[in-house]
Amino acid sequence: MTDSTHGIIFNIQRFAIHDGPGIRTTVFFKGCPLRCWWCHNPESHKILPEKFDGCNLRRGFDQSFSMDKDKVGMEISVDELMKEIIKDRIFYEESNGGVTFSGGEPLMQPRFLAELLKECRANGVHTSVDTSGYASTDILNKIADNTDLFLYDLKLMSDDDHQNFTGVSNQVILKNLNELNQLGKKIIIRIPIVPELTDTNENLMAIRGFVSYLNNVIEVNLLPYHRAGEGKYTKYGKENKMIKTESPTSKSMENIQQIFNDLKCKVKIGG
Ligand code: SF4
Repeated sequence: MTDSTHGIIFNIQRFAIHDGPGIRTTVFFKGCPLRCWWCHNPESHKILPEKFDGCNLRRGFDQSFSMDKDKVGMEISVDELMKEIIKDRIFYEESNGGVTFSGGEPLMQPRFLAELLKECRANGVHTSVDTSGYASTDILNKIADNTDLFLYDLKLMSDDDHQNFTGVSNQVILKNLNELNQLGKKIIIRIPIVPELTDTNENLMAIRGFVSYLNNVIEVNLLPYHRAGEGKYTKYGKENKMIKTESPTSKSMENIQQIFNDLKCKVKIGG
């Protein structure tokens, strides 16, 4: 069940330092409408908890939570989750950190997310929403009210390529990004650098062009594809279409960084 009191998540990572500013707790929502070829979290795709043999993706949880070794995903209440989030408030305060709602796609559980954001705001916890942007504009607008920062993915500017390699059109994603910018929300753009798919000169130049018109982008993160998620495809019996793809070299990441260097905001390799 997912509503304003309960939702489904598959992990909580404490002391995260790559999901927004400072020290953060990252909450991974289950469910994603996209199917990116390079996804590191294929176990996040379906919204409902799934049974697998011998898995335990509840690492990072407090001992007070019961463990279920064969399941990815669990239902959790807003109250339970807020208790986990609040625990590290001292670290957020000292580092200008907070909580990041990631996934999967957090906007797939809008009522649960909205309630968590409201509670975080009431408790003075800084919030980031890490999103593909693939959701109705109405939902995004409602979520934006209590969100301090968006980590917003831009993957492929050609709509055909976007459909081929993520399974969905990029039209609503680009529209929503414009919308957030007009609302004056702070945005960090995250670009997965995937050899031969997203790292073509044409695609990166098109992203740079689009971003250059947005005045609320505070940073661009270039995220090199890595093979860390590979084992999960075998483990969860999912097809891995990236089996032969290597991570980009440091040199090629530096070259890509140059493409974005004339933007007014900070451009960083990594999150
Ligand atoms: S949007 Fe993120 S979680 Fe969803 S399929 Fe793409 S990489 Fe995976």
